Amino acid sequence: MTPLAALLVERIREDGPITVAEYMADCLLHPTHGYYTTRDPFGAAGDFTTAPEISQMFGELLGLALAQAWLDQGALCPFTLAELGPGRGTLMADMLRATKAVPGFHRAAQVVLVEASHHLRQVQAETLARSGARVCWADGVDDLPDAPLFLVANEFLDTLPIRQFQRAPDGWLERLVGLVDGQLAFGLSDPLPKVPDLPAFRSAPPGALIEDCAPARHVAAAIADRVAGHGGLGLLIDYGDWRSRGDTLQALRRHAFENPLAHPGEADLTAHVDFEALSAFAPSNAYTTQGALLLRLGIEARADRLARNLSGAALESHLAALRRLTHPEEMGSLFKVLALTRASAPLTPGFCT
Ligand code: SAH
Repeated sequence: MTPLAALLVERIREDGPITVAEYMADCLLHPTHGYYTTRDPFGAAGDFTTAPEISQMFGELLGLALAQAWLDQGALCPFTLAELGPGRGTLMADMLRATKAVPGFHRAAQVVLVEASHHLRQVQAETLARSGARVCWADGVDDLPDAPLFLVANEFLDTLPIRQFQRAPDGWLERLVGLVDGQLAFGLSDPLPKVPDLPAFRSAPPGALIEDCAPARHVAAAIADRVAGHGGLGLLIDYGDWRSRGDTLQALRRHAFENPLAHPGEADLTAHVDFEALSAFAPSNAYTTQGALLLRLGIEARADRLARNLSGAALESHLAALRRLTHPEEMGSLFKVLALTRASAPLTPGFCT
Protein backbone atom coordinates (compact mmCIF):
# COMPACT_ATOMS: atom_id res chain seq x y z
CA MET A 1 0.00 0.00 0.00
CA THR A 2 1.39 3.47 -0.89
CA PRO A 3 1.75 6.03 1.96
CA LEU A 4 -1.14 8.02 0.46
CA ALA A 5 -3.34 4.88 0.25
CA ALA A 6 -2.77 4.34 3.99
CA LEU A 7 -3.83 7.95 4.73
CA LEU A 8 -6.93 7.63 2.51
CA VAL A 9 -7.99 4.32 4.12
CA GLU A 10 -7.68 5.95 7.53
CA ARG A 11 -9.72 8.98 6.44
CA ILE A 12 -12.47 6.90 4.78
CA ARG A 13 -12.70 4.66 7.85
CA GLU A 14 -13.34 7.75 10.00
CA ASP A 15 -15.41 9.99 7.71
CA GLY A 16 -16.94 7.63 5.12
CA PRO A 17 -16.46 7.29 1.32
CA ILE A 18 -15.07 10.19 -0.75
CA THR A 19 -15.97 11.36 -4.27
CA VAL A 20 -13.82 10.45 -7.28
CA ALA A 21 -12.92 14.18 -7.45
CA GLU A 22 -11.63 14.20 -3.87
CA TYR A 23 -9.65 11.03 -4.59
CA MET A 24 -8.13 12.50 -7.78
CA ALA A 25 -7.25 15.79 -6.11
CA ASP A 26 -5.38 14.05 -3.29
CA CYS A 27 -3.60 11.63 -5.64
CA LEU A 28 -2.31 14.44 -7.84
CA LEU A 29 -1.72 17.35 -5.49
CA HIS A 30 -1.54 16.10 -1.87
CA PRO A 31 1.11 18.39 -0.29
CA THR A 32 3.48 15.58 0.70
CA HIS A 33 2.36 12.49 -1.26
CA GLY A 34 0.77 13.92 -4.45
CA TYR A 35 1.91 12.73 -7.85
CA TYR A 36 2.79 16.19 -9.24
CA THR A 37 3.97 17.66 -5.93
CA THR A 38 6.67 15.03 -5.48
CA ARG A 39 8.18 14.41 -8.91
CA ASP A 40 8.94 15.29 -12.53
CA PRO A 41 6.84 12.68 -14.35
CA PHE A 42 7.72 13.56 -17.95
CA GLY A 43 9.80 11.83 -20.62
CA ALA A 44 11.25 8.41 -21.21
CA ALA A 45 12.37 7.98 -17.59
CA GLY A 46 9.00 9.20 -16.24
CA ASP A 47 5.46 7.97 -16.68
CA PHE A 48 4.34 9.71 -19.89
CA THR A 49 5.51 11.91 -22.77
CA THR A 50 3.57 15.01 -23.82
CA ALA A 51 3.50 16.80 -27.19
CA PRO A 52 6.00 19.58 -26.29
CA GLU A 53 8.43 16.90 -25.09
CA ILE A 54 8.03 15.02 -28.41
CA SER A 55 9.15 17.92 -30.63
CA GLN A 56 10.03 21.62 -30.45
CA MET A 57 7.70 22.14 -33.45
CA PHE A 58 4.62 21.86 -31.20
CA GLY A 59 5.53 24.90 -29.06
CA GLU A 60 6.94 26.86 -31.97
CA LEU A 61 3.71 26.64 -33.99
CA LEU A 62 1.43 27.35 -31.03
CA GLY A 63 3.60 30.34 -30.06
CA LEU A 64 3.36 31.72 -33.59
CA ALA A 65 -0.42 31.09 -33.65
CA LEU A 66 -0.80 33.14 -30.44
CA ALA A 67 1.48 35.88 -31.81
CA GLN A 68 -0.48 36.00 -35.09
CA ALA A 69 -3.75 36.30 -33.15
CA TRP A 70 -2.14 39.07 -31.06
CA LEU A 71 -1.19 40.96 -34.27
CA ASP A 72 -4.65 40.33 -35.79
CA GLN A 73 -6.25 41.84 -32.68
CA GLY A 74 -4.14 45.02 -32.89
CA ALA A 75 -0.98 44.13 -30.91
CA LEU A 76 -2.62 44.72 -27.52
CA CYS A 77 -0.13 46.16 -25.02
CA PRO A 78 0.53 45.14 -22.29
CA PHE A 79 -0.85 41.61 -22.34
CA THR A 80 -0.55 38.36 -20.39
CA LEU A 81 1.15 35.41 -22.08
CA ALA A 82 -0.02 32.53 -19.92
CA GLU A 83 0.29 28.79 -19.69
CA LEU A 84 -1.72 26.48 -17.44
CA GLY A 85 0.14 23.47 -16.03
CA PRO A 86 3.47 24.02 -17.83
CA GLY A 87 5.15 20.78 -16.70
CA ARG A 88 8.86 21.22 -17.40
CA GLY A 89 8.35 24.59 -19.12
CA THR A 90 9.31 23.20 -22.53
CA LEU A 91 6.22 24.48 -24.37
CA MET A 92 6.65 28.05 -23.07
CA ALA A 93 10.39 28.00 -23.85
CA ASP A 94 9.67 26.92 -27.46
CA MET A 95 6.89 29.53 -27.80
CA LEU A 96 9.19 32.31 -26.58
CA ARG A 97 12.06 31.29 -28.87
CA ALA A 98 9.79 31.10 -31.92
CA THR A 99 8.19 34.50 -31.28
CA LYS A 100 11.42 36.43 -30.65
CA ALA A 101 11.29 37.98 -34.10
CA VAL A 102 7.66 39.20 -33.77
CA PRO A 103 8.09 42.97 -33.30
CA GLY A 104 6.93 44.17 -29.87
CA PHE A 105 5.52 40.79 -28.77
CA HIS A 106 8.05 40.06 -26.03
CA ARG A 107 8.19 43.66 -24.84
CA ALA A 108 4.40 43.72 -24.34
CA ALA A 109 4.21 40.28 -22.71
CA GLN A 110 4.04 39.47 -19.02
CA VAL A 111 4.57 35.69 -18.81
CA VAL A 112 2.39 34.03 -16.17
CA LEU A 113 2.57 30.31 -15.40
CA VAL A 114 -0.27 28.69 -13.46
CA GLU A 115 1.34 25.81 -11.59
CA ALA A 116 0.33 24.07 -8.37
CA SER A 117 3.54 22.09 -7.80
CA HIS A 118 6.44 23.96 -6.17
CA HIS A 119 8.79 21.29 -7.40
CA LEU A 120 7.71 21.85 -11.04
CA ARG A 121 7.83 25.66 -10.58
CA GLN A 122 11.56 25.27 -9.93
CA VAL A 123 12.00 23.09 -13.02
CA GLN A 124 10.10 25.70 -15.09
CA ALA A 125 12.25 28.56 -13.71
CA GLU A 126 15.40 26.70 -14.79
CA THR A 127 14.02 25.93 -18.26
CA LEU A 128 12.98 29.55 -18.83
CA ALA A 129 16.03 31.24 -17.30
CA ARG A 130 17.67 31.42 -20.75
CA SER A 131 14.61 32.97 -22.43
CA GLY A 132 15.17 36.40 -20.87
CA ALA A 133 11.39 36.77 -20.33
CA ARG A 134 9.84 38.26 -17.20
CA VAL A 135 8.10 35.23 -15.66
CA CYS A 136 5.84 35.00 -12.64
CA TRP A 137 3.66 32.23 -11.21
CA ALA A 138 0.00 32.14 -10.22
CA ASP A 139 -1.96 29.56 -8.23
CA GLY A 140 -5.04 29.51 -10.46
CA VAL A 141 -6.86 31.16 -13.37
CA ASP A 142 -8.61 33.57 -11.01
CA ASP A 143 -5.19 35.12 -10.26
CA LEU A 144 -4.43 35.95 -13.92
CA PRO A 145 -4.01 39.72 -14.43
CA ASP A 146 -7.00 41.76 -15.56
CA ALA A 147 -5.52 42.34 -19.04
CA PRO A 148 -5.61 40.95 -22.59
CA LEU A 149 -4.85 37.25 -22.35
CA PHE A 150 -3.07 34.95 -24.81
CA LEU A 151 -3.00 31.53 -23.21
CA VAL A 152 -2.17 27.92 -23.91
CA ALA A 153 -2.92 24.81 -21.85
CA ASN A 154 -1.71 21.39 -22.98
CA GLU A 155 -2.77 18.28 -21.05
CA PHE A 156 -3.85 20.45 -18.13
CA LEU A 157 -7.63 20.04 -18.11
CA ASP A 158 -7.33 16.23 -18.07
CA THR A 159 -5.68 16.42 -14.63
CA LEU A 160 -8.52 18.41 -13.05
CA PRO A 161 -10.72 16.33 -10.74
CA ILE A 162 -13.90 14.85 -12.20
CA ARG A 163 -17.02 13.55 -10.50
CA GLN A 164 -18.76 10.49 -11.90
CA PHE A 165 -22.53 9.96 -11.84
CA GLN A 166 -24.59 6.92 -12.73
CA ARG A 167 -28.15 7.06 -13.97
CA ALA A 168 -30.37 4.67 -11.98
CA PRO A 169 -33.92 3.78 -13.10
CA ASP A 170 -35.37 6.51 -10.85
CA GLY A 171 -32.60 9.08 -10.38
CA TRP A 172 -28.86 9.61 -10.13
CA LEU A 173 -26.16 8.04 -7.91
CA GLU A 174 -22.56 9.23 -7.51
CA ARG A 175 -19.58 6.90 -7.86
CA LEU A 176 -17.52 7.01 -4.65
CA VAL A 177 -14.25 5.60 -3.32
CA GLY A 178 -14.83 3.57 -0.14
CA LEU A 179 -13.44 0.45 1.51
CA VAL A 180 -13.99 -3.27 0.92
CA ASP A 181 -12.06 -5.58 3.30
CA GLY A 182 -9.89 -2.62 4.31
CA GLN A 183 -8.85 -1.86 0.69
CA LEU A 184 -9.87 1.09 -1.51
CA ALA A 185 -12.83 0.15 -3.74
CA PHE A 186 -15.40 1.90 -5.93
CA GLY A 187 -19.02 2.05 -4.78
CA LEU A 188 -22.19 4.12 -5.29
CA SER A 189 -23.86 6.80 -3.18
CA ASP A 190 -27.51 6.97 -2.16
CA PRO A 191 -29.78 8.73 -4.71
CA LEU A 192 -28.81 12.41 -5.18
CA PRO A 193 -31.28 15.28 -4.90
CA LYS A 194 -29.81 16.92 -8.04
CA VAL A 195 -27.03 16.68 -10.66
CA PRO A 196 -25.30 19.34 -12.84
CA ASP A 197 -27.58 20.90 -15.44
CA LEU A 198 -25.59 19.87 -18.55
CA PRO A 199 -26.55 18.38 -21.96
CA ALA A 200 -24.86 15.03 -21.24
CA PHE A 201 -27.04 14.49 -18.15
CA ARG A 202 -30.28 15.42 -19.89
CA SER A 203 -29.92 12.79 -22.60
CA ALA A 204 -28.36 9.95 -20.55
CA PRO A 205 -30.14 6.56 -20.75
CA PRO A 206 -30.58 4.43 -17.57
CA GLY A 207 -27.31 2.75 -16.56
CA ALA A 208 -25.15 5.45 -18.24
CA LEU A 209 -22.11 6.80 -16.42
CA ILE A 210 -21.59 10.54 -16.94
CA GLU A 211 -18.56 12.57 -15.90
CA ASP A 212 -18.45 16.23 -14.93
CA CYS A 213 -15.34 18.34 -14.43
CA ALA A 214 -16.57 21.52 -12.72
CA PRO A 215 -12.99 22.90 -12.34
CA ALA A 216 -12.49 22.66 -16.13
CA ARG A 217 -15.73 24.57 -16.72
CA HIS A 218 -14.49 27.17 -14.23
CA VAL A 219 -11.16 27.50 -16.10
CA ALA A 220 -12.91 27.98 -19.45
CA ALA A 221 -15.29 30.54 -17.94
CA ALA A 222 -12.43 32.53 -16.37
CA ILE A 223 -10.48 32.64 -19.66
CA ALA A 224 -13.61 33.56 -21.64
CA ASP A 225 -14.27 36.34 -19.16
CA ARG A 226 -10.77 37.92 -19.56
CA VAL A 227 -10.93 37.56 -23.33
CA ALA A 228 -14.42 39.09 -23.54
CA GLY A 229 -13.33 42.08 -21.44
CA HIS A 230 -9.88 42.77 -22.91
CA GLY A 231 -9.35 40.60 -26.02
CA GLY A 232 -7.07 37.61 -26.44
CA LEU A 233 -7.12 33.91 -27.22
CA GLY A 234 -7.06 30.76 -25.11
CA LEU A 235 -6.01 27.50 -26.77
CA LEU A 236 -7.05 24.45 -24.76
CA ILE A 237 -5.45 21.24 -26.02
CA ASP A 238 -6.23 17.85 -24.55
CA TYR A 239 -7.36 14.36 -25.27
CA GLY A 240 -11.06 13.82 -25.14
CA ASP A 241 -14.08 14.19 -27.31
CA TRP A 242 -17.00 16.43 -28.06
CA ARG A 243 -18.86 14.30 -25.53
CA SER A 244 -16.96 11.77 -23.42
CA ARG A 245 -18.76 8.50 -22.89
CA GLY A 246 -18.62 6.26 -19.84
CA ASP A 247 -15.81 5.88 -17.34
CA THR A 248 -12.67 7.60 -18.69
CA LEU A 249 -10.72 7.80 -15.41
CA GLN A 250 -7.31 6.28 -16.09
CA ALA A 251 -4.04 5.74 -14.28
CA LEU A 252 -0.67 5.68 -16.01
CA ARG A 253 2.51 4.50 -14.29
CA ARG A 254 5.84 3.91 -16.03
CA HIS A 255 4.17 4.21 -19.48
CA ALA A 256 1.56 1.49 -18.66
CA PHE A 257 -2.13 1.72 -17.70
CA GLU A 258 -3.24 0.35 -14.34
CA ASN A 259 -6.23 0.34 -11.97
CA PRO A 260 -6.74 3.96 -10.75
CA LEU A 261 -6.97 2.71 -7.15
CA ALA A 262 -3.76 0.62 -7.31
CA HIS A 263 -1.03 3.18 -6.45
CA PRO A 264 -2.53 6.47 -5.22
CA GLY A 265 0.08 9.26 -5.41
CA GLU A 266 2.44 7.19 -7.56
CA ALA A 267 0.49 7.04 -10.85
CA ASP A 268 -0.75 9.85 -13.07
CA LEU A 269 -4.55 10.07 -12.93
CA THR A 270 -6.46 11.70 -15.78
CA ALA A 271 -9.88 11.74 -17.43
CA HIS A 272 -10.94 12.60 -20.96
CA VAL A 273 -11.96 16.20 -21.46
CA ASP A 274 -15.60 16.77 -22.36
CA PHE A 275 -15.30 19.58 -24.92
CA GLU A 276 -19.06 19.98 -25.33
CA ALA A 277 -19.32 21.27 -21.75
CA LEU A 278 -16.47 23.76 -22.40
CA SER A 279 -17.76 24.89 -25.80
CA ALA A 280 -20.45 26.91 -24.01
CA PHE A 281 -17.64 29.45 -23.39
CA ALA A 282 -16.31 29.51 -26.99
CA PRO A 283 -17.66 30.90 -30.26
CA SER A 284 -18.79 28.42 -32.93
CA ASN A 285 -16.11 26.90 -35.24
CA ALA A 286 -13.66 26.95 -32.35
CA TYR A 287 -13.11 23.18 -32.13
CA THR A 288 -10.69 21.09 -34.17
CA THR A 289 -8.21 18.24 -33.84
CA GLN A 290 -4.54 18.65 -32.94
CA GLY A 291 -3.49 17.07 -36.24
CA ALA A 292 -5.63 19.41 -38.35
CA LEU A 293 -4.50 22.46 -36.38
CA LEU A 294 -0.78 21.69 -36.68
CA LEU A 295 -1.05 20.92 -40.40
CA ARG A 296 -2.93 24.16 -41.07
CA LEU A 297 -0.33 26.08 -39.07
CA GLY A 298 2.36 24.71 -41.40
CA ILE A 299 4.06 21.97 -39.39
CA GLU A 300 5.16 20.18 -42.58
CA ALA A 301 7.08 23.21 -43.84
CA ARG A 302 8.72 23.63 -40.42
CA ALA A 303 9.54 19.91 -40.32
CA ASP A 304 11.18 20.12 -43.78
CA ARG A 305 13.28 23.09 -42.67
CA LEU A 306 14.51 21.28 -39.55
CA ALA A 307 15.11 18.07 -41.51
CA ARG A 308 17.69 19.80 -43.72
CA ASN A 309 20.19 19.77 -40.86
CA LEU A 310 19.48 16.18 -39.81
CA SER A 311 20.53 12.73 -40.97
CA GLY A 312 20.49 9.10 -39.82
CA ALA A 313 18.80 8.31 -36.51
CA ALA A 314 18.16 12.00 -35.69
CA LEU A 315 16.27 12.45 -38.97
CA GLU A 316 14.25 9.29 -38.40
CA SER A 317 13.28 10.38 -34.91
CA HIS A 318 12.33 13.87 -36.21
CA LEU A 319 10.03 12.34 -38.86
CA ALA A 320 8.55 9.96 -36.27
CA ALA A 321 7.80 12.98 -34.04
CA LEU A 322 5.97 14.73 -36.91
CA ARG A 323 3.87 11.61 -37.46
CA ARG A 324 3.21 11.17 -33.74
CA LEU A 325 1.91 14.73 -33.34
CA THR A 326 -0.30 14.78 -36.45
CA HIS A 327 -1.29 11.31 -37.66
CA PRO A 328 -4.93 10.28 -36.97
CA GLU A 329 -3.76 6.93 -35.59
CA GLU A 330 -1.40 8.65 -33.15
CA MET A 331 -2.13 11.94 -31.33
CA GLY A 332 -3.62 13.73 -34.36
CA SER A 333 -7.28 12.79 -33.80
CA LEU A 334 -7.39 11.80 -30.13
CA PHE A 335 -6.23 15.27 -29.09
CA LYS A 336 -8.62 18.16 -29.65
CA VAL A 337 -8.24 21.93 -29.48
CA LEU A 338 -10.79 24.50 -28.34
CA ALA A 339 -10.15 28.20 -29.05
CA LEU A 340 -11.64 30.71 -26.63
CA THR A 341 -12.01 34.16 -28.20
CA ARG A 342 -14.55 36.94 -28.48
CA ALA A 343 -17.22 35.97 -31.01
CA SER A 344 -16.22 39.12 -32.98
CA ALA A 345 -12.47 38.30 -33.02
CA PRO A 346 -10.70 37.61 -36.35
CA LEU A 347 -10.58 33.91 -37.27
CA THR A 348 -8.09 32.10 -35.02
CA PRO A 349 -4.94 30.97 -36.93
CA GLY A 350 -5.23 27.26 -37.76
CA PHE A 351 -9.05 27.17 -37.59
CA CYS A 352 -11.55 27.11 -40.48
CA THR A 353 -14.74 29.06 -40.98
N1 SAH B 1 1.59 21.06 -20.14
C1 SAH B 1 2.70 20.19 -19.80
C2 SAH B 1 2.43 19.32 -18.57
C3 SAH B 1 1.13 18.60 -18.44
S1 SAH B 1 0.99 17.70 -16.92
C4 SAH B 1 3.10 19.38 -21.00
O1 SAH B 1 2.38 19.40 -21.99
O2 SAH B 1 4.15 18.74 -20.96
C5 SAH B 1 -0.06 18.70 -15.94
C6 SAH B 1 0.57 19.95 -15.36
O3 SAH B 1 -0.45 20.65 -14.63
C7 SAH B 1 1.69 19.74 -14.35
O4 SAH B 1 2.60 20.81 -14.49
C8 SAH B 1 0.95 19.81 -13.01
O5 SAH B 1 1.79 20.07 -11.90
C9 SAH B 1 -0.04 20.91 -13.29
N2 SAH B 1 -1.26 20.91 -12.47
C10 SAH B 1 -2.08 19.86 -12.22
N3 SAH B 1 -3.17 20.25 -11.51
C11 SAH B 1 -3.04 21.59 -11.32
C12 SAH B 1 -3.84 22.59 -10.69
N4 SAH B 1 -5.00 22.27 -10.09
N5 SAH B 1 -3.41 23.86 -10.70
C13 SAH B 1 -2.24 24.21 -11.30
N6 SAH B 1 -1.43 23.31 -11.92
C14 SAH B 1 -1.82 22.01 -11.93
